Amino acid sequence: MIQLEHIEVAYGRERPVLALESLRIAPGERVAIIGPSGAGKSTLLRCLKGFVRPRRGKVEVLGVNLACSGQSARRAVNQRVALIYQQFRLVPRLSVLENTLCGRLGHTHRWRSLFGWFTPEDTRAAWAAIIEVGLTKKVHQRADTLSGGEQQRVAVARAVAQEPELILADEPVSSLDPAWAADVLELLTTVQSHHHATLVMTLHQPELARGFAQRVIGLRAGHIVWDGPAGDLTDDNLQALYGSDQSNYVPFRHDATA
Ligand code: ADP
Repeated sequence: MIQLEHIEVAYGRERPVLALESLRIAPGERVAIIGPSGAGKSTLLRCLKGFVRPRRGKVEVLGVNLACSGQSARRAVNQRVALIYQQFRLVPRLSVLENTLCGRLGHTHRWRSLFGWFTPEDTRAAWAAIIEVGLTKKVHQRADTLSGGEQQRVAVARAVAQEPELILADEPVSSLDPAWAADVLELLTTVQSHHHATLVMTLHQPELARGFAQRVIGLRAGHIVWDGPAGDLTDDNLQALYGSDQSNYVPFRHDATA
């Protein structure tokens, strides 16, 4: 599913911000990536989506090495990989249904999508996704009239409509209050398991990673410093991971419901 070997990622001529010897993620895994700000978490996701090419090494996603493949192969992989952003990235003036249909763009001929002519199959997939995220009653409501949590639900619906094999979520709950954060992560993990997709998400809060992921990867200064089952992650591991950078390290609340 995902296989990274000896990769180095840099922006421009700068020194690498991500350097990984080896990372494998199997189909169906639910992985959280945590670490201090600037550790390279988003860069790793951008790499898996093919937005950033490594300076060297192999980034194999769904059987294609994104580091050296051509545009059409990358586009074909892209269609099977959904990305959920911290800031939702919906079209504010479009409805829930129209935003969800955007997930079908990769399945539709370009000229059809330009005119918003989606097939009955596209519409069916969008409706099914909206039902799955529980937004049926708001299907014709504009995205910008929804709460942040509801907007992220639409983003999840858009991802589901895409029928992805891999879902990447970059800080999907950082803009939400704790109740909505737990709600959206619950939804995301339910959707992932229902559709047998692989989920790789970056999370700011280790307690959410432990609560919602099966496997946690700790990144620090572009390197993996911890990789194991979420249940094995201790406060000592987190101290080592975050070191003196406590800015986004929230110790586990052992009574937390999340
Ligand atoms: P994280 O998601 O863990 O906060 P990032 O992957 O966003 O970390 O960033 C890793 C490093 O790469 C940081 O030092 C950041 O400043 C740098 N970086 C991120 N994006 C760019 C960019 N577009 N151009 C130059 N440097 C960048």
